This record gives sequence, structure tokens and C-alpha cells, in this order.
Amino acid sequence: GQLSESLEGLVISRFGEQADIMNLCDQKVFRCYLRQNLGSIVSGDKVVFRLAENEQGIVEARHSRDSVFERPSAHQGLKAVVANINQVFIVAAPLPDFSAALLDRYLVAIEDANNQCDIPLKIIILLNKWDLQSEIIDQSIEEQLTIYRQLDYPIIKVSTKTGLGIDLLKQHAVHQQSILVGQSGVGKSSIINHLFPQQESLVNQVSQNSRLGQHTTTTSQLFLVKEMTTTENSVDGFIIDSPGIREFGLWHMDSHKVAAGFKEFLPFIGACKFRDCQHINEPGCAILQAVDTKQIALQRWQNYCKIVSSPAS
Ligand code: GDP
Ligand code: ZN
Repeated sequence: GQLSESLEGLVISRFGEQADIMNLCDQKVFRCYLRQNLGSIVSGDKVVFRLAENEQGIVEARHSRDSVFERPSAHQGLKAVVANINQVFIVAAPLPDFSAALLDRYLVAIEDANNQCDIPLKIIILLNKWDLQSEIIDQSIEEQLTIYRQLDYPIIKVSTKTGLGIDLLKQHAVHQQSILVGQSGVGKSSIINHLFPQQESLVNQVSQNSRLGQHTTTTSQLFLVKEMTTTENSVDGFIIDSPGIREFGLWHMDSHKVAAGFKEFLPFIGACKFRDCQHINEPGCAILQAVDTKQIALQRWQNYCKIVSSPAS
């Protein structure tokens, strides 16, 4: 049949040989087939597509990416999971339990990615469930947070139950292309539902009017961030919630990259006596000295040792 003119689209979700594509002009979402040999297509990709009369489309080309987030894959080395991201929200919570060790795993994985690309990803720590009683949010959590503040990691305390911090979160999400990461149970889905109550998911919209039916909800979902003041037809950023990337901090990392992911280690690393220093117990280790003189927080170094000794938890 007849195909429409070329349209500019944003990949909402990719599944098998199909993808849900949002028309950047009117924000309508269409289920599309992928032309062969397009290369990898993931959420966040910008593409050119055409529509057939039945409102199904075909993706014809992919624009080059500003950034790509990859994960190790058993078969192909690295596999792209999400594209054109410039910001990561790391979600943590006092329940099930606050784990600075886990937070450090996420931070290291992002800093490692940042060490390898031109445009560093912005990092924001979201502390959810801040409505919980003070028995659970104790002094030790506040003390641990001080370490991250001193390292210049922005921290936003939020609660999807009381709405605490949600406006601040929105301000940080507008005009950005973000992903949410964090261990299961910290409240990522709740945050998405709170931020986008009426949007549901763009994927669900398309499933309703598509004869191709529903695909599994294990694929990435993309949510549009809109500014209150702007017109309906403008996109002011997006947040991708992707099961494939939620726990990326737990993927395997080469141990020599771990130290470079602790950004406060960097000024000291070159000063160790041994070139291949692991910063664990070597003589003349500048990192150990900096821990002694409290230039590096003891807890951060301890978490470094944990990650090096079990690179994939
Ligand atoms: P996810 O696995 O990270 O997506 O976490 P969920 O969004 O499924 O939330 C896990 C649990 O935490 C659910 O029982 C939520 O009701 C609860 N939860 C989420 N946000 C909050 C919050 O701000 N305060 C409290 N007290 N509980 C929350
Ligand atoms: Zn050292």
C-alpha cells in the first residue's frame, strides 16, 4: 500500500522485530516493523519512519546517537540497551535497607561509563520512602549521605506516599533524557506512576489500537516529561524505565576500572608505589594513605574492596 512521507520518530520500546515509535510532531505512537540491516534499535533512539494506511509503520533509518548505554552480552560482547541518555537517577531507599555498598556499585558503573565518553552522564541520587518513621531512617543513614554530598553527588529525598520532593525531581527531569536505576523494591515503578499518572505508558496506548497485540512488559518504557507551561505538542525530555538496565550496577566490571569509578581516588592513583597497585594492602599505596588521613572516606574504600573482590555481586 501507500506509505506516508518520512516522519521523525523516537523509539519508545523495542521488542523483537518491531518497535513502538512516537511521531515527534504530534506525539502519537505507532507500532512499526524494522527494515532489515538497521543495526541495533533501542529505546531513546531517534529514527526516520513511514506509515502505511493501516497506521502500522516501518522504520527506515536510525539517526546517529549522542550516547549509548551498553551491557555485556554472552554472545556479542556489548549490547546497546538505551540511547541518547544524559542523566541517571539512582534510586535508593531505607527499606528494604539502605545499602551504601550497592549505591557505590551503581556510581562506579556510571563513572566508568563517564570516563569513556565525551559527555558525562549527570548523576542524581533519589532517596525514596522518606516518609518512613525515624526508627528506620536513622542517624547512620544521614552520616553516610554526608559522604555523597561531599563528593558533589546531588541527593533528592522523595516519597511517593506523601509527595515529598516530587516537584524538585520534576525540575531535574525537565529537558533531560534520563533513566532510572536501582535495586528491586526501592520504588522505581511507584516513582514513575507518581510522575506520570495519566500517561500510563505510551506502549499501552498503542497496544489498544493495534491488531498486533500486546507485547511483554519486560521491554523498556519511555515516559515524556512535560513542562506545565508549554503547549501540548512539545516534548521537554523523557525518562526511560527499562528492566534491562535497572540493575546495571551489578554487571561485571573489570577490577582495574573500579578504582577509576571512585572519583575521589583519581588524584591519588598515580602516586602509588607500584604501577599495578590494587589499593588493598600494598606498601606505598597512596589511596590507603589518603584513607588514613581521611581524605578518602573509610566506607568508600571498604566498598571499593568489596567490589574488587566480587566484581559481579
Ligand atoms: P521497584 O521494584 O523499584 O519498582 O519498587 P516498587 O515501585 O514496586 O515499590 C516497592 C514497594 O515500596 C511497594 O510496596 C511500594 O508501595 C513501596 N513504596 C514505594 N514508594 C514508597 C514511598 O515513598 N514510601 C513508602 N513507605 N513505601 C513506598
Ligand atoms: Zn594503591
